[in-house]
Amino acid sequence: MESLARTLNGVLQSIENAALLAGRPGGVRLLAVSKTRPPEAVRALARAGQRAFGENYVQEGLAKIRALADLDLEWHLIGHLQSNKAALASRHFDWVQSVDRLKLVAALDRARPPERPPLNVLIQVNVEGEAGKSGCRPEDVPALAGAVAAAARLRLRGLMAIPEPHPDPERRRAAFRALRRLQDSLAARHPDVDTLSMGMSDDYALAIAEGATLVRIGTALFGPRGR
Ligand SMILES: *Cc1c(COP(=O)(O)O)cnc(C)c1O
Repeated sequence: MESLARTLNGVLQSIENAALLAGRPGGVRLLAVSKTRPPEAVRALARAGQRAFGENYVQEGLAKIRALADLDLEWHLIGHLQSNKAALASRHFDWVQSVDRLKLVAALDRARPPERPPLNVLIQVNVEGEAGKSGCRPEDVPALAGAVAAAARLRLRGLMAIPEPHPDPERRRAAFRALRRLQDSLAARHPDVDTLSMGMSDDYALAIAEGATLVRIGTALFGPRGR
């Protein structure tokens, strides 16, 4: 427990160091990726002060949201979202980072409960155009963003991506940089856009250097995943 708090503080400190180097002190938030971890691990990290958690699967996330309802946590869906799970996700999560097609926009908007604030939405971009991967094409971002911004129960907050973990850091940097350019043109048209979700345990410092405002970190906080 004690060591989890120490690990969290170490990660927060290296995020802040990278943010300072990028000239954006306080400009980067940590999303703790809790997929495959038991609710008790989330509770321990919450006790150490972490509020925002990310899950890949709707059902697994829901189980933790319910088990930890006594804590005031912020839940992000970061995994691929099937259309038939969109309503469930919209009812229970605070953010959905994996919106990559129009069909999801309508389903999320329709299902968001009136008593909750609008659902925060990031558009997932397949920035390198890899076949078989989630995320829309960069050229589809404006239309998708327009649909999200026009939906009464959704709030467009920015972009998310999972670039290939190229061994060559310069190729990773190029992908992050391309995302930053997309984000800047999106923000010029949509004033609520303030979030660029990129960077994981292996490359978050590089992502922050290139403009990330939210980094999604699992392994560096909780250790290696069993599955
Ligand atoms: C698992 C996952 C992460 C966290 O990856 P780590 O390497 O464990 O930090 C971040 N983003 C997404 C979309 C993931 O699926």
